[in-house]
Amino acid sequence: MAAVVDPEIRVITIDELGILRAVEEDRATGRVTVTITPTYTGCPAMDVIRADIRRALAAIGHPDAEVRTVYSPAWSTDWISAAGRAKLAAAGIAPPPATRAGTVVPLTLAVRCPRCGAAETEQVSRFGSTACKALWRCRACREPFDHLKAL
Ligand SMILES: [Zn+2]
Repeated sequence: MAAVVDPEIRVITIDELGILRAVEEDRATGRVTVTITPTYTGCPAMDVIRADIRRALAAIGHPDAEVRTVYSPAWSTDWISAAGRAKLAAAGIAPPPATRAGTVVPLTLAVRCPRCGAAETEQVSRFGSTACKALWRCRACREPFDHLKAL
């Protein structure tokens, strides 16, 4: 079930994306409860993710699984795992910078081109192929790419 992929970014699983918070099984009834946190409020992909989770659990004998949505602690791009970041980069989606507590966040965050690695990039549009992404372009290789918005 953790292998359910994000419907908007199909290369990354909900576990790697960090929206899968908990999976619990009631020992008495065998009922499974899955807890997820949306990447942002109103993300249309969440309905698809819920349905995919239920389908995956039904396939292994849990047709009555419940999918709970919690909004706290809020999801941020820090929840994306290292493996998830590597997969985003391999798919040509610039991973967001990690902004863990205690690290200095530079005033200007360079977005590196996921294709050639150049730092000379510019945002073309705040809106990419989905609401979670912005459209960027590399000035070195001239290729456009999606950048997952840092939240
Ligand atoms: Zn480039």
